[in-house]
Amino acid sequence: MAETTSDIWPPFTETLPLGLDADDAKLVPGRAPPSRVQPSVLLVDDDPFMLGMQSRMLRSMGYSMIGTAGSAEAALLLLQQNPQAVDVIVSDLNMPGVDGIAFLRRLGGNSFHGSVILLSGEGARIIHAVQKLLLGQQLRILGALEKPASRNAIRALLDRWTPMTPPMTTALPAAAPPVYTADDLEAAQMADQWVLHYQPKVDLRTGELVGTEALVRWNHPTHGLVYPDRFIDLAEDCGAIDALTDWVLRSALRRLGRWHEQGLHIHMAVNVSVENLRAADFAHKVGELVRHSCLAPQDLTLEVTESRFMALASGPLEALVRLRMQRFGLSIDDFGTGHSSLAQLRDVPFTELKIDRGFVHGARHNQLIRPMLEGSIGIAQRLGVQTVAEGVENEDDWSLLREIGCDVAQGYFIGRPMPGDQLPAWLEGWHAKRPRLVGP
Ligand code: C2E
Ligand code: CA
Ligand code: CA
Repeated sequence: MAETTSDIWPPFTETLPLGLDADDAKLVPGRAPPSRVQPSVLLVDDDPFMLGMQSRMLRSMGYSMIGTAGSAEAALLLLQQNPQAVDVIVSDLNMPGVDGIAFLRRLGGNSFHGSVILLSGEGARIIHAVQKLLLGQQLRILGALEKPASRNAIRALLDRWTPMTPPMTTALPAAAPPVYTADDLEAAQMADQWVLHYQPKVDLRTGELVGTEALVRWNHPTHGLVYPDRFIDLAEDCGAIDALTDWVLRSALRRLGRWHEQGLHIHMAVNVSVENLRAADFAHKVGELVRHSCLAPQDLTLEVTESRFMALASGPLEALVRLRMQRFGLSIDDFGTGHSSLAQLRDVPFTELKIDRGFVHGARHNQLIRPMLEGSIGIAQRLGVQTVAEGVENEDDWSLLREIGCDVAQGYFIGRPMPGDQLPAWLEGWHAKRPRLVGP
């Protein structure tokens, strides 16, 4: 590798600490561009051949700021000197001495605020497990690849990198989010502070809008819009969930009625907690609500997530069977996580399988989750159950689902949850985009 001092970036290769072989760890490469629009990359691998090959590959792809380290220890020393010099670390997992896991843990505990790509010959399942292990750390993991990684795969991950502003030392620590109580929820209910947003669900084959999912938010007088992950568990614990679900059902059905009047014949999905299903008259009440709204049970799908109990108790199961006998749609939500499992699919007459976003987004390039996505869709198809994929965030996710034969997609790529009156404008935009996504 030919380089002159003026080419050296960042300019401290000569100041490597004593005892560290310059060949073992170096930050060499081309010129520092005036603005760091391109990440500086540090490759960490104990195999010199691999290091050479990877750095040549990155260089040929146009990355000019590339450094190499032959061990985790060497990389740590380098970063100690100048933690801001490196934007992305591409690290091997299996290294003698300090291995990849220990290296990344130490990085996370240090002042390194860049991003990480895991590269390993250990196979997709180990890489995935390591990614999970590192989740609690401050590190930003751009992704993981099996060795040898292709140019496109590396580029796709490096494209995810965005410059990070270093934490300001003067910045105040982020205030802890407020913790709510049962009294707060009761007050919210009394003051009518719930609002619904609706997220579109579209047919993957035709691109047509087929329905929306109603998602509740709390319009808090001082905290602004509070999202359900901050209060649903509490509502379930303190018994406020029945009144909340009742409100959600009434509002969503009213909204659906208006859309039908406007000629928008779509269906509505509402989330129902297992706590709701314990009430003996739940199925009857939902039936009454739908009749009073002049809608049909087929217009409503109830999405059920079972997060806490090992097996569905007989009360909730009975409610589900009653709902299905009235022809309501029943969706097994977050399929693949928690207790949203094959056993539930076996025991409950679900009409829809809603695959958790953890098996959807990024599946095209992930050898671990892709077979699980394909398998879940295959099972649903053989059972004659409709498949919905949530968490469709980009065109890759969209096109893979079309290839596999999933029925319905939902996610940011299609549309974010929005107030009901914004749906017509969203639909106009979607119609303009649709032909390109579904072909002629
Ligand atoms: P969920 O039923 O799995 O709903 C989907 C969640 O994923 C929503 O979050 C939605 O905004 C988010 N989401 C949608 N598309 C994407 C995407 O492409 N990428 C990512 N990363 N996320 C996406 P939200 O609104 O914060 O709701 C969170 C959870 O709260 C819901 O998860 C649901 O379990 C619960 N929830 C929401 N509304 C209600 C309700 O009325 N009743 C009950 N019991 N639970 C509700
Ligand atoms: Ca849901
Ligand atoms: Ca989900």
